[in-house]
Amino acid sequence: MFLKSLEIHGFKSFADKTELVFLPPKEGKQSITAVVGPNGSGKSNIADAMRWVLGEQSMKTLRGKKNEDIIFGGSTAKGNMSAASVSMIIDNSDGRLPVEYEDLVITRRVYRSGESEYLVNGNTVRLLDLQILLANAHVGEGAYSVIGQGMIDRLLLQSSAERKDFFDEAFGIKEFH
Ligand code: ATP
Repeated sequence: MFLKSLEIHGFKSFADKTELVFLPPKEGKQSITAVVGPNGSGKSNIADAMRWVLGEQSMKTLRGKKNEDIIFGGSTAKGNMSAASVSMIIDNSDGRLPVEYEDLVITRRVYRSGESEYLVNGNTVRLLDLQILLANAHVGEGAYSVIGQGMIDRLLLQSSAERKDFFDEAFGIKEFH
């Protein structure tokens, strides 16, 4: 199982539909993809998009104040957009996830009107269904699979109960809580 690609459209600075394709494992080893660019060019927005599509609920974590802050707000070249959509494509050809799909496609969409939806391979699901699926795959929104800026710092300063959550996730026993 590995992260295959990410499609971002209307999310934060991504006005144009953008597809990021990540390198597949090679010779049995996972690959690394690095995103480089000047300050403020949108690198962290990619990490935010990953968190968001995995069900992140905290606007603070996403560096915004209200829901519509994550929808493209317009620039000198382009007007604002009415919706934001992010799809994460996970290669499940090794069948690690208990779903019938070789490619698992998770989509989250939000409209300026406030409506929002989650889809798994095009079928509407509840956030709870998505959370259970991701917990089984150990890639939940609060999981250590997305390490944000300052997260290691916070981990060191956390209470022991909060730290236990982190280790439960790492040991793969969080879904049994
Ligand atoms: P740094 O290296 O400083 O962390 P970065 O490359 O990670 O920067 P981000 O913080 O991801 O950059 O991107 C910030 C940019 O995204 C800013 O230019 C900001 O104006 C833009 N941005 C954020 N939200 C929106 C939005 N809703 N609509 C349009 N642009 C947005």
